[in-house]
Amino acid sequence: MIDVLKVTDSVTVDPFNVMLKPRGAICNLDCKYCYYLRKEDLYPNSSFRMEKNVLEKFVKEYIAAQAGPEVVFSWQGGEPTLMGIDYFRQAVEFQAKYSRPGIRVTNAFQTNGVLIDDEWCSFFRDNEFLLGISLDGPIELHDAYRVDKGGDGTFDDVMRGIDYVQRYQVDYNILTTVHSVNSKHPLTVYKFLRDTIGAKYIQFIPIVEKMNVYGTDQWSVSERSVQSEDYGDFLLSIYDEWVARDVGTIFVQIFDVALAAWSGMRPGLCVFEETCGSALAMEHNGDLYSCDHFVEQDHLLGNLMDGNIVDLVSSSQQKEFGLAKRDDLPKYCLECEVRFVCNGGCPKNRFIFTPEGDDGLNYLCAGYKQFFTGINISMNYMASLLKNNRPASDVMAWIEIEKLDWIRRVNSVNRNDSCPCGSGKKYKKCCMI
Ligand code: SF4
Ligand code: SF4
Repeated sequence: MIDVLKVTDSVTVDPFNVMLKPRGAICNLDCKYCYYLRKEDLYPNSSFRMEKNVLEKFVKEYIAAQAGPEVVFSWQGGEPTLMGIDYFRQAVEFQAKYSRPGIRVTNAFQTNGVLIDDEWCSFFRDNEFLLGISLDGPIELHDAYRVDKGGDGTFDDVMRGIDYVQRYQVDYNILTTVHSVNSKHPLTVYKFLRDTIGAKYIQFIPIVEKMNVYGTDQWSVSERSVQSEDYGDFLLSIYDEWVARDVGTIFVQIFDVALAAWSGMRPGLCVFEETCGSALAMEHNGDLYSCDHFVEQDHLLGNLMDGNIVDLVSSSQQKEFGLAKRDDLPKYCLECEVRFVCNGGCPKNRFIFTPEGDDGLNYLCAGYKQFFTGINISMNYMASLLKNNRPASDVMAWIEIEKLDWIRRVNSVNRNDSCPCGSGKKYKKCCMI
């Protein structure tokens, strides 16, 4: 919920983030699952370049509107490197001009990585940009859908970009989309990112492309989309590897989100927050939309150049958009044991029916349920460690002891005994299989 405190030149609303699209939907690649490329159609005959006056007004009002000590600028696309470095030098100058004592301005820059070179890396390092680089796994998985305008795979180009980033010691994280191809190879993806790339910060974003079932009012998904159960399997397989050996050294966004929720804190990622409304998107011409996934006429809040950003962010239209996420949850979610962490997921994916026939269930529900219930025991353990001022990474020693105990119990059990896992079945019909 957004509270408006009208103050002239600083602190006006609760924290919000705006995903900036300085080059609109224009990109040098043609990734087959990209939902944003088609947004080019919203602006026929446009130059698709954010003008200097739009940039300056945004920087000024955005900084003034943020109450917290850190102000994060999020650059996205399309592909933001297509604006050229000078554009971002200008942005950084505006940030310095409108910053105020006691705040820290930072920049998060999402890129496909293929245009990154020495000059970009010098700039990123000198200005402490945090990069997000899109990489879907090793070459055969990455190139399945991440292709250039000629339809060729982009793996080698991205790896070259990552090499630059690492040589210049620019901070980065890897954003991996989970789709129908790489979802079948969770540990191949994870071990590649961890061991070959050396990534420390990883995000897994599910690809869900909603499609109408021809001749009906039902919805399905494209063949590129991840199957819901596969998404659950994918996350659980990686989690099992991570919780046994990588806690505290590798940071996977959805695992951090879960630990926050298990510790009684807010998840910190809009998808799992109770309400939406604080993650907006701004197109190159200053049009502000409710969210990056709702860049469409019905969710246009107005244009930055026609007023103050605070009025748009705190508008009743945006409040309604945000609250709908909570208020439209089906009964099935309201009664769900993992709602405290899931909150029904992103509204853009709520297009299937519950077992009772109510609409508005998230397409990824089965996967979420499987994942969040599957991590419950170790999450509870880590949450209690944190509560007792111990590092969450102590969970790894506990798992090792549990494993040894399990092996001991399995070694001493006969095939006709009750299974040591506690299922109530005979061992030979349960874990022995
Ligand atoms: S609609 Fe989805 S992506 Fe947008 S703010 Fe809500 S949860 Fe986040
Ligand atoms: S797991 Fe499924 S039922 Fe539970 S809150 Fe999430 S979407 Fe709703």
